[in-house]
Amino acid sequence: MNEYSYWLDTLPAGTQNVELRTQNSDLPPRADVVIVGAGYTGLAAARQLARAGASVLVVEREQIGWGASSRNGGQVLTGMKLDAATLVATFGEAKARTLFDIASASIDRLEAIVAEESIDCEYERSGHIQAAWKPSHFKAFHDEQTLLARVFHHQVHLVPREEQRREIGSDRYHGLLVDERSGAINPAQYVRGLAAAAIRRGVSIATGVGVTAVQRQPGGWRVQTTKGEVLARDVLFATNGYTNGASPALQRRFVPIGSYIIATEPLDESQAVALLPKRRMAFDSKNFLYYFRTTTDRRLLFGGRAEFGRTTPDTTRRAAAILRRGMTSIFPGLAAVRIDYAWGGNVAFTRDQMPRAGRLDDVYYAGGYCGHGVAMATYLGEQIARRIAGEPIDHPLFDDRFAAIPLYTGNPWFLPLVGAYYQVRDWLQ
Ligand SMILES: Cc1cc2nc3c(=O)[nH]c(=O)nc-3n(C[C@H](O)[C@H](O)[C@H](O)COP(=O)(O)OP(=O)(O)OC[C@H]3O[C@@H](n4cnc5c(N)ncnc54)[C@H](O)[C@@H]3O)c2cc1C
Repeated sequence: MNEYSYWLDTLPAGTQNVELRTQNSDLPPRADVVIVGAGYTGLAAARQLARAGASVLVVEREQIGWGASSRNGGQVLTGMKLDAATLVATFGEAKARTLFDIASASIDRLEAIVAEESIDCEYERSGHIQAAWKPSHFKAFHDEQTLLARVFHHQVHLVPREEQRREIGSDRYHGLLVDERSGAINPAQYVRGLAAAAIRRGVSIATGVGVTAVQRQPGGWRVQTTKGEVLARDVLFATNGYTNGASPALQRRFVPIGSYIIATEPLDESQAVALLPKRRMAFDSKNFLYYFRTTTDRRLLFGGRAEFGRTTPDTTRRAAAILRRGMTSIFPGLAAVRIDYAWGGNVAFTRDQMPRAGRLDDVYYAGGYCGHGVAMATYLGEQIARRIAGEPIDHPLFDDRFAAIPLYTGNPWFLPLVGAYYQVRDWLQ
């Protein structure tokens, strides 16, 4: 079993990052903007800033897309992490509608960039299904359908259990909610295409270089890295679930939580078609949800928050065993199928499960996508870049007063407790 992201093996052989790498070359002495992290956030911001005429250096500790951006499920989903009812209960109808529209705009931006930059990343409007784990969850889908239509002018349709085989090859669920607007993407091809697009616009990307600290100095910042210093007018932290001590402020606001995926061996065509006949993105209605999809080479990718904490090789192996049991409970026909890949990655949660961008102690940031960031990271990266470039924009997700989480300094000691709480809720609800 390969313990790395399946998506990396879908990149053209031998070219994973090679031609994009500037490793070992000298860092430029200065740049208008230094961006920390080469995932969707950092690269979308870099591309946007370069288009506005700024000189931009992206500094990445590992390789392009090394973080969540090459490891995710590639589900480009409508809406925010918070469901429609929670959005309305938390923010009221008008603001909830604005936030939902922002999520739709984020998909529009992703689609526009893929088209403008001709990024070959298997993007398609596949739609998604949400599967009811319990009969009561399907009843709640009716309310959600009504709310989505009334408040958000967004149409979804429901499929009762007795007809769900036309959407999913499983009887484990109690009916489905189907949303045609969502999409599927190959995440590693997308992040690589975004990097290539940024480079075409004049962005420099230094990989294998970690930012260790940023210090204010007249007119800007002194950015300290493992390969020397760079002076910058502005700095953007785009480090999300991989934020470290280089940004103590963000470390106190983003909680890194592991999410894990296994990928089967390529399945027979008939078997893959039976699992998800319309190749939709899928997830279920539990708090500790499973998410799954098929790939162009007919593997099933099956993911979940099987371990509650940061990812390590040990948690990845334990999670793989848990996910395999989960997968065969949903699709018993896969019991004898080989698992070719297992990997994990960190998602960044915020206390209220809302993403954000803004300025903390005069340093820009964007992140906190709570596992819902393929489109939103692209979008918020662009939005914060527009602000850095001097556009007089305000945005509902800009937050310069993003409060630190009390008693939290970057070590999420409370995660096992939170995990246990949600497991009990899944059992009770
Ligand atoms: C297993 C998994 C499944 C997911 N599935 C989905 C999905 O299906 N749909 C969806 O919408 N979202 C999903 N997500 C979330 C999505 O992948 C993320 O929200 C998104 O990739 C975040 O992009 P980013 O650029 O902000 O951060 P990242 O891609 O994580 O990039 C941050 C980068 O910062 C670098 N870095 C950190 N500190 C430093 C430093 N000091 N110096 C230099 N570099 C540094 C890291 O090396 C890393 O490469 C998933 C995430 C995971 C982990």
